[in-house]
Amino acid sequence: MPTASRDTVVLLPGDGIGPEVAAEARLALEALVPEVVVEEHLIGGAAIRATGKPLPDETLEACVAAAAVLKGPVGDPEFDAADVRPEQGLLALRAALDAYANLRPAVLDEIDVLIVRELVGGLYFGEHGVRDDGTVYDTCEYHPHQVERIARRAFRLAQSRTGRLTSVDKANVLETSRLWRRVIDQLAPEYPDVRVEHMLVDNAAMQLATTPGQFDVLVTENMFGDILSDLAAAVTGGLGLAPSASLSDGGPGIFEPVHGSAPDIAGRGVANPTAMLRSTALLLEHGLGLRAEAERLSGAVDSAIAAVPTPDLGGTATTAEFGAAVREQLSVDERAGATYRA
Ligand code: NAD
Repeated sequence: MPTASRDTVVLLPGDGIGPEVAAEARLALEALVPEVVVEEHLIGGAAIRATGKPLPDETLEACVAAAAVLKGPVGDPEFDAADVRPEQGLLALRAALDAYANLRPAVLDEIDVLIVRELVGGLYFGEHGVRDDGTVYDTCEYHPHQVERIARRAFRLAQSRTGRLTSVDKANVLETSRLWRRVIDQLAPEYPDVRVEHMLVDNAAMQLATTPGQFDVLVTENMFGDILSDLAAAVTGGLGLAPSASLSDGGPGIFEPVHGSAPDIAGRGVANPTAMLRSTALLLEHGLGLRAEAERLSGAVDSAIAAVPTPDLGGTATTAEFGAAVREQLSVDERAGATYRA
């Protein structure tokens, strides 16, 4: 029986390095907000092994009932050729929670871009299959309502930042992109303080790689956002650092690192838990409404990156040593009288 409630954070450690980085996130979350109830459930390959399903009913019910979901990466080479795969659990969870707005911040020095990716439509959710003649197909579909709600979310986020919004599409080729552009243009007059530009996705990829500092909020459809956000992560320090929040309208959000389960380093205790910890900071802010705690955690993670970098950043710290440094910084802040539970 699921016991999750609105005071509960459901933690889904996932596969590969997931349990390693999730353990550090849990310790940091409990250190910052001792009253939070953290309840762990299975997803992905671990869930398939235990139950045959990548998203067991019990896990889904607990997530639906929770305040927020903190999720590690899923994926295991063991299931690469299987019909039931770990990643299906993730897609099903996003769809079930209608977590349509994927926020992927990428910040480094003068770069501060927020990618807003539509998450439950487009190519990943359209009809797919194999025709009699052997042709394999995936279809990309968008309803205007799907575009409007992600666009409104992006306009509001742009308003809360510097007021610049770049909408990325492939309107010179795709019908869904022409719809995307139409909806953005129709909504723009309602947000006169936001300066909108349209950019084709191939150009956007080049601009992100060469002059990422020009972007503020970038909104785009599911697959373009998937690829561009990894690129943005790469130009701001790498996959091990990039967090994400996937938000619905009113229901629990899913907070998870951008990176995958990194089977090549799993089990060695050397994964960088930064992306998972930064996802925890997004959970504190967007899932629990605890902005001060979110800022404290982000600051502590930045300090740990400087003091005890993990091997992917050129250092030698283990996952556990990095997590301990984060918690030590949190307690230093507390002793110094930082705003706590403000
Ligand atoms: P990956 O992100 O797992 O790994 C890519 C490279 O980055 C690897 O060399 C890995 O060691 C490194 N890396 C990733 N995270 C790291 C971290 N925290 N610290 C240090 N190094 C890190 O991508 P992949 O290898 O293409 O995918 C592996 C599996 O993850 C696949 O099964 C894939 O489907 C899955 N995946 C899951 C998610 C998700 O759950 N949201 C996202 C992407 C990929």
